[in-house]
Amino acid sequence: MVGAAAACLLARAGFSVAIIETREPQPYDASAPTGLRVSAFSPGSVDVLAEAGAWRQIEQQRHCAYRRMHVEDRDESVALDFNAPEFGLERLGTIVENHLVQWSLWQSLQVMGGVEIICPDRLEFLDHDEDGPIARLDSGRQIRCRLLVGADGANSRVREMLGIEQEHWEYGQHGLVAVIETEQPNPGLAWQRFMQGGPLAFLPLQDGTSSIVWSRPHAEARRLLELDDDSFLTELQEAAWTEGHSWPGVMNSCGPRAAFPLTMRLSRRYAGPQTVLMGDAAHVVHPLAGQGVNLGLLDAAGLVEVLVYARRNQTDIASEKTLRKYERWRRSEAEIMARGIHGIRGLFTPEALGPLRKLGFGMVSRSWIAKEAFIKRAAGKNRNAPALARGEALTDLLRTGTD
Ligand SMILES: Cc1cc2nc3c(=O)[nH]c(=O)nc-3n(C[C@H](O)[C@H](O)[C@H](O)COP(=O)(O)OP(=O)(O)OC[C@H]3O[C@@H](n4cnc5c(N)ncnc54)[C@H](O)[C@@H]3O)c2cc1C
Repeated sequence: MVGAAAACLLARAGFSVAIIETREPQPYDASAPTGLRVSAFSPGSVDVLAEAGAWRQIEQQRHCAYRRMHVEDRDESVALDFNAPEFGLERLGTIVENHLVQWSLWQSLQVMGGVEIICPDRLEFLDHDEDGPIARLDSGRQIRCRLLVGADGANSRVREMLGIEQEHWEYGQHGLVAVIETEQPNPGLAWQRFMQGGPLAFLPLQDGTSSIVWSRPHAEARRLLELDDDSFLTELQEAAWTEGHSWPGVMNSCGPRAAFPLTMRLSRRYAGPQTVLMGDAAHVVHPLAGQGVNLGLLDAAGLVEVLVYARRNQTDIASEKTLRKYERWRRSEAEIMARGIHGIRGLFTPEALGPLRKLGFGMVSRSWIAKEAFIKRAAGKNRNAPALARGEALTDLLRTGTD
């Protein structure tokens, strides 16, 4: 998603782009059941996807915008509620299947001038000579470029070839995902409960079902995957149940389940010689705040902004100065998010004290300023967000440029 979005934006900004991808996404089939991998796209990410030429296609298919978010702590019975209009937002986020976003961006790339799609192929080695980076591909082909963008995911080959180290936090958890039908349809609410062992989230889907992410210790996640549907639903219901609350309430059925290991990784550098990292190649965050791909799409918008500005000032787009600017900006934003998420998660470990947790929740719930700062950042609409995420059109950016 992140690399394809960056390629679309860079091509629209007038740069000549080649995208190397191992496999073409399968065509999106709207009659197939909802995919297991969905993401909550922030309003800022929706603006970026619109500028990348993909949002129009996405919104014609399955998607679900939500205006309300409820976060609660099971043990201390404290809760936080967020309503989009309170913060001047139309929506807090939109749930979309990852596959639909990948497919729509791919379609956008096909019709965009100035893009060469090299697929299927794989970057094997990255060399440099006096003229710049050379990408050596599995097919034997070599691509020379002015600037190489590594948006190749958590196990990035580009990052490995640059020798960039990462800060790691291992959580010993898997995120278990499934689509759940509740007796009362999801009322368009993103619901999350923090419990010992990990958070449980219900994200609303267009047909009233919910996509869940249930973070559990590895062995527990494996056990939950192996249960039959009825036993799984009984355990899920027990975890989500609150006496006297109508929702999520009774669970009717669940679709297939899958689980993904959860880690937090932050690259120590985002730039090497004529090379940058973005998306999961640069940072991986715990999904409890639904921010992974949102951070990545903001990286893509941020890079375009920095390069447009460099070109306007007749500065080399791949100079150390230009790439350091991107690195300082985007790495510090990812660090704030990663450490914030890590801190929230830390409040729900067995070692954390209940009263401390209650105090933290209580302080945030009483402080409108803290809630606003949190929501604006999560929405990709804080003042450090790239112009494209804050709603500026790429055509305006090309006309004016920003610093
Ligand atoms: C359970 C779960 C729930 C999540 N929910 C959310 C959410 O609600 N909101 C959110 O913002 N984020 C969420 N995330 C995080 C989100 O899924 C990731 O941040 C996002 O998918 C990363 O996208 P990416 O494009 O950076 O990387 P990837 O999706 O990993 O893409 C990398 C691409 O590079 C290609 N590639 C890799 N190596 C090579 C090579 N050598 N040569 C050529 N091509 C190569 C791959 O084929 C792939 O297409 C969640 C994650 C999990 C695990």
